[in-house]
Amino acid sequence: MQPGRIFDEFPAPAYRGAQERALADIRDAFAADNDVVLVRAPTGSGKSLLARAIAGCARTAGESEAGEVIDAYYTTPQVSQLDDVAGDDLLTDLKVIRGKNNYDCILPGETDTPVDQAPCARERMFDCQVQHRCPYFSDRAIAANNRIAAMTLAYFMQTAGSDVFGQRDVLVVDEAHGLGNWAEMYATIDLGPDTVPIWDACEPPEVDGLDDAVSYADTLHTMAGRRLTEVRQQAELDPEEAAERDKLVQLQSDLSWFAEDYRDEDSGTTWVVDQNGGEGSRVTIKPMAPEKYLKHTVWDRAQNFALLSATILNKDAFCANVGLAPDRVELVEVPHTFPVENRPLYDVTQGKMTYEARDETIPRVAETLVRIMAAHPDEKGLVHCHSYAIQDQLLDHLREFGVESRVRTHDSEDRDAQLSTWKRVDDPDVFLSVKMEEALDLEGDLCRWQLLCKAPYPNTRDSRVAARLEDDQWGWYYRTALRTVIQACGRPVRAPDDYGATYLADSSLLDLFERARVDMPGWFAEQVDRMSQPDLPAADATAATGSGSASASGRSRSTGSSAGDSGGASSGSSGASASGSGSGSSGDDDGGNSRSGRRSRRSKSKSNPIADVWDTE
Ligand code: SF4
Repeated sequence: MQPGRIFDEFPAPAYRGAQERALADIRDAFAADNDVVLVRAPTGSGKSLLARAIAGCARTAGESEAGEVIDAYYTTPQVSQLDDVAGDDLLTDLKVIRGKNNYDCILPGETDTPVDQAPCARERMFDCQVQHRCPYFSDRAIAANNRIAAMTLAYFMQTAGSDVFGQRDVLVVDEAHGLGNWAEMYATIDLGPDTVPIWDACEPPEVDGLDDAVSYADTLHTMAGRRLTEVRQQAELDPEEAAERDKLVQLQSDLSWFAEDYRDEDSGTTWVVDQNGGEGSRVTIKPMAPEKYLKHTVWDRAQNFALLSATILNKDAFCANVGLAPDRVELVEVPHTFPVENRPLYDVTQGKMTYEARDETIPRVAETLVRIMAAHPDEKGLVHCHSYAIQDQLLDHLREFGVESRVRTHDSEDRDAQLSTWKRVDDPDVFLSVKMEEALDLEGDLCRWQLLCKAPYPNTRDSRVAARLEDDQWGWYYRTALRTVIQACGRPVRAPDDYGATYLADSSLLDLFERARVDMPGWFAEQVDRMSQPDLPAADATAATGSGSASASGRSRSTGSSAGDSGGASSGSSGASASGSGSGSSGDDDGGNSRSGRRSRRSKSKSNPIADVWDTE
């Protein structure tokens, strides 16, 4: 690696904010013989450009001796981030390769068939005459031969051990804060009707502990092997059979890994198992040390690493979580250059949102939301509901208040489509979202305010979370929640002259800020220290739906003052009862509003709520 040329490799014609200083610090960190540099870079620091400059420092073919590795990888867990990179005119020399299911076959009659189900995947010994023109294989060849190959983290991990994407000199991981989580998710063995093709023939018994789990894994492995033999004996497979074959291969590999590791007395891995529905229901088997998994999928793939994120909160804890020795790791902190007054936090806490307290708190949160809507009658808002259960309850109350006409929702299957529609419409709609704290760019009028309904603590009913807490890892627990809050706060404020207010409804968030204070980046601590209680108008449906003339304390402003600072609320009826304030039509009646029927029915899909940022091949 040649960190000395980092400035020459910076792709923009001029530096913005703290970029020049950040480049110097990163250069010095690598020059000081660190193998890994963590770059804590907040929104607006131009992380992708920094990433490009670092990748450009990789040793080239002309600079290498025999046996030395060259070139660089750029990878990110977020599909949207990779899309941004692919569309950035300053980053055209990053060559992007995506999973096979993102490309279509070009053979006649197969042009709607994704590559992973195409004839070359279905037929044994299929000799494709046009493979050199195939979009997937062509992009793969270009990326493999380019100085900087760019891909999602999922694709990158899947190509571990491949001849095509071997070890390189430099690996840059963008949005790296979730590396441990992604490894956990990737290492989790999820057994259910959607992942086990032979589920009906081999439903699980009641799994009460790991011995039961390994016994079931053995049985499943044998039966999957039998079915795989049958499938492979066919000369040609249809697309469903090809998909089944791939699932069976993956299943066998996962089950062998678990069974062998569990029986290996020298293995340091602790496993946990969940089965919440008893006999016949889904079984989830998880290793407690996913950092081991990162060794061959990530750490063996390069010699120098730059990990970038706004929310790498604690160097030592991050290193422990992803399996790095901290003595060869340096943390470079990039300052926030957006004015703090443009990203205000507002304390509108209404009580705890724990499972036990929620029924009492949610009606008050709903009323507060109506008041915030009245304060921002002309501005789009985002509500982080945390779960679909809270989203449902909140929506029911909003219907009672008569403000449903301004509200949009999504379910686990239509989240992308509903999000796009909300962003596209000109109306100042309010979007009740679930798991949208990350990977969302809501610049300018796309969103001027947001509400956090619940402190985003990990689910203590997850056995891996429970095991960590039994092990007294409370610092991890608080940092995980804080990281999500900081990520959420970055959604609506994307440029130095952009602004957006964040309202906090769950009183546990205040407790979180105290407990995790030591791990807060200074620029976020500054936001917390400036937090205030806004003077909101009354919970009036007419004002909240924008059809009245509410005086809006938090309405759009010019410069210098934060949303809500003007304090011009009409009544400021803090703590007002919801009764009587729902003056509009009931939620069952759209009152003739043309935006009727927006509420989508949630499916029973088991798909992962962050599946949209987890691009699997
Ligand atoms: S290699 Fe040939 S058969 Fe396979 S996806 Fe490409 S064009 Fe289709």
